[in-house]
This record gives sequence, C-alpha cells and structure tokens, in this order.
Amino acid sequence: MNEIIQKLLKEKEERIIFRKKFINDVLNETKYDASNITFLTITINYPGPNKNGNIVKLIFEESIRALKINFFKNNIISLKEIKIKNSVGPVKFIAARIDPQNLKKITVNIEENHYLGRFFDLDIYNYKGEALTRKKVGLSARKCYLCELNANLCRRLQKHSYEELKYYVKKQMENYQKKQKIVEENFIKSIEIIAYEALMEELSASPKPGLIDKLNNGSHKDMDYLMMKKSAKAIKNFFSMFAKQGMYIAKNNTNNEQAMELLKGIGLKAEEEMFLSTGGVNTHRGVIFSLGIITAATGYFFVKPKGREELLSNNIAEIAANWLNGITKNELENKSICKLENTHGEEVFKSYKVYGARGEAEAGFPSVIQYGLPALKKAVYKYKNLEKAYLETLLVLMSKIDDTNILYRGNISKLKKIKALARKTLDLGGFKTEKGKCNYNKLIEYMEENKLSPGGSADLLIVSIYFYKLKNILFRLPSK
Ligand SMILES: [Zn+2]
Repeated sequence: MNEIIQKLLKEKEERIIFRKKFINDVLNETKYDASNITFLTITINYPGPNKNGNIVKLIFEESIRALKINFFKNNIISLKEIKIKNSVGPVKFIAARIDPQNLKKITVNIEENHYLGRFFDLDIYNYKGEALTRKKVGLSARKCYLCELNANLCRRLQKHSYEELKYYVKKQMENYQKKQKIVEENFIKSIEIIAYEALMEELSASPKPGLIDKLNNGSHKDMDYLMMKKSAKAIKNFFSMFAKQGMYIAKNNTNNEQAMELLKGIGLKAEEEMFLSTGGVNTHRGVIFSLGIITAATGYFFVKPKGREELLSNNIAEIAANWLNGITKNELENKSICKLENTHGEEVFKSYKVYGARGEAEAGFPSVIQYGLPALKKAVYKYKNLEKAYLETLLVLMSKIDDTNILYRGNISKLKKIKALARKTLDLGGFKTEKGKCNYNKLIEYMEENKLSPGGSADLLIVSIYFYKLKNILFRLPSK
C-alpha cells in the first residue's frame, strides 16, 4: 500500500513540475503580454484507484468539450495545449489569452452548472504559477458530491464509503448520457432541417440565370421544380446521417481513410434515393457531396469544438478539408485517365484542369468562406430580403468561380462572358437599380440561349446558406 501511495505522490509531484515547465515554455514562445495569459489545468475528480478507465475518459473528454465551447462563445484564443496521462489520471494543460479572473468566472460556471461539473477540476494559474482559488475571487469553496460539506474537508473526514461514491458517479453518468443523447439527437435533427431549408430556399429563389426556380426550368430540359423538390425531400434525412456519422468519427478518433469510407457509403445511398425519386435524373449529386461533407463536419465539430465563433465556418470547412486531403490527386489527377466513364467533374478536369467541387472542398471551401458567406451577410443587410440576398450571393459566386457545369456544357470564352455579366450586374447596383436588374436579365437570356447553368455556383450558394443558418443552432450543454 505504501508503495502505491508513494507512486501517486510522485506522479502528483510530476504534474506540478510539468505545469511549471509548460508555463515557462509558453512564456518563452509567446509574443503577448504575460499578464494577459492564463494557464489552466483540467483534471477529473473520480473516486477510487482506477483513474484511467472509460468513465474517467468520458468525463475528461466532456470537460474539455465544455471548456472549448466556452472558448468558442467568448472568443478566447487558446495558445498551447498539452495532454499527459499517468496513474493519477489524465491532465490537460492549456494556455489561453484571457485575464485570469475572467477565465476563473467561466470555469467556476462550468463546474457549478454542467451536469458533470462536480467531477471537473478546472484550475487556474497566472503567469507566475500562482493558483487563483475560489477564495481569492470571493467565492465559497466547492462542496462534496454527496453532502453539503466542503469537498476537501469531507474527503479528509472520509465521510462516504468508496461504494457510496462510486454508485453516485455511476448514476450521474447514466443520467448524463441520457440527457446528452437527447441533446445530440436534437442537434442532428436541426442540421437536417437547415440543410433541407438551404436546398429548398436556393431552389425557390427566383428568377435565377439558367437554373431551375419557381418560375421556369432555366436551361434544363430533363428536370423541373417539382422534380427538384421531390429529390430534395428524398435526400433530406441523409443529412442527419452525415451529421451523426461525423459525431461518431470524432468520438472514435476514426482515421481519415475510414472516415471517408463511412461518409462515401452514406453519399452513395443518398444518390440512390435521389435517382429513385427522379427516375434516373441527376438533380443533387454535387450538393450531396458538398453539403454531405459539411454536415458531417458539423457533427464532428459538435463533439470536438475548436476556435472562436467568428471562425465557425472556417473551422468546419477545415475539418472537411482534412478528411478530403488528396481527393483531387486520387480522383482527378491520377484516376481519370484510366476510367472509361467519367463524371462531369472528371471530364472538365481532363479538358480544363479545373478542380471543381472536389478541389473546392479539399481546399476548405474557399469560395464559400471568402465570397459566398460574406456576400450573403452583406446582401441580407442590403436588401432585408432573403430571396434577393440569395440571388445577389449567387451573382458574386458566378463572378468569382470557374463553374464546372458551365465549362462542361460550354467553354472557356462563354464562362468568361458569364463571369463578366455577373460582375457587371453587381457593379451596377444589383437588384437595387434598374440598370442592375436590366443587366441581370441579359445574363439570364445569355444562359438560356446557350443552354448553360451555373450548377457549381448554386451548390456553393447552398453551402453558404447552410453556414448562414448554422450559427443559430450551436451549442447547448447538458446542465443540472
Ligand atoms: Zn460529503
């Protein structure tokens, strides 16, 4: 017994030494003012000898998630993070750019209000390595899990048996998992709802150049508004599946190759349903790919949030990009030469070396992040009308990207002409001016005369709309 205690004490000592080293390393590396950097350690209060079992792991991961959500919501920048594990249990060290007092308020709030908060030990230190205790910020000490006594005092008095404590933790975990399951299911459902809304609102925005809308079929002969609607309905619930799979990938630390296999499986089933609903017409293949990967990445982000709220879309797009790393090389550069039958994207790549939807996703959706989403926000403000805002965003995307749908049925010079017409419409004031509207009609006429349709831009508009709506549904933590 003595040996075990000796070992525990030694490893506790090691943690302290590690913390000091961590603080020194950060101070040596940083360019920021040290007094505005706070150091935080996350450990778990768990009774008994098994400090590295599955329950501790779950509680530990949730404590990090709860903290990251607070970083995200409060725009707190994490400077450095390290995780270590020894027989005292896992520890995470984080250095963040925030005043220690403010971070203390946040961590106390998590400890007091999160459903598992009583098991979290979120300790705060300043750059001198001094602990900022609850007492120092005028708060009373933490209470024991089970009784109203001061936790440290209760522990010293050994008021509760190990069995009693263990039973309590087990019950709390069961309740937490039930609650968390409902939170996750609600989140997954809301992802499906906004994905479907994005599809439908893009479809209904009218009039659009070359695309199907409420008024006509644009440049399409083989599909119409009703078919698009039916197809959107047929693929709707796959966005839940993508989000759920993204959560699974995050929880299980699935590697990229396996993650892509899982997501591809869902994508193929969604395509099957789409073809069934349309009698074999490809209505939504592009958007199943783009929005599929983005909804999956949103599920992943829900489990492993990072960064700050203002960069939400960037962070989610980055997760998708990471999964897709290598896709243009594997599916376009290396493969299209040998395949007998190519998709439109592969054909366009062969002729023009334009990477299309795959390239866009692999690069982290730069057209959405740099053009689509900012344009949409601006246009909502400009028009106070979503439909007009969507149409203007479509114009911005059309003026910026090399749309593979236009290249597939048209050519480079037609693409250039279309980009210029879109640009000019915007320069003339868009839908705010008669000249703008007149030029927009010219664009519509040109698209229909040449039987061209900006399908790639439309898909990126859908992703932009999805991101625009997403900010309203993140996050809820299970509270007591
Ligand atoms: Zn007690």
